[in-house]
Amino acid sequence: MVIKAVVYDADKTLWNHHNISELVEPMSVSGDVLVDGRGDRVVVFPGVRDTLKTLRETGIMLGLATWNYESATKRVLSLLDLRFDVVVSKDYPYKFMMLMEFLIRASQLGMRIKPDEVLYVDDRRDHFGYIWFHIGKVKCLEMWKDVKEHREILKMIENEPNS
Ligand SMILES: [Mg+2]
Repeated sequence: MVIKAVVYDADKTLWNHHNISELVEPMSVSGDVLVDGRGDRVVVFPGVRDTLKTLRETGIMLGLATWNYESATKRVLSLLDLRFDVVVSKDYPYKFMMLMEFLIRASQLGMRIKPDEVLYVDDRRDHFGYIWFHIGKVKCLEMWKDVKEHREILKMIENEPNS
């Protein structure tokens, strides 16, 4: 099995904030810290940028699957300068549906990716059962438990046996 895509949850996985849909304008950014109009802060976790950069250089497709208003997600990604090939941002929590949409949109971009070629990273393990039931053998990692920091994701991919 080869990993061809890594799909991330956003809130509490890429950054410390639990719900970026609550943020209000005006927002400003300095480095890895975004501050909103009420002083609410979104801090990108250490290693996120490095890991995304390395994955992209390796030719791995990057996806985001997040329960947030699309306008909020796009705004925050743009301000923080975080880029993903496919962003699936919905006002419902069903990650398996978002992963299905990710696979369809990847194929529209010319990337045929099978479920077992996807690594999904989320701080909430309770999505994983639905993903396995509805989509198949997506490799799922619980952020902060299966891996303690972002760069460890690179090691998990290196250690996947190729066949
Ligand atoms: Mg989360």
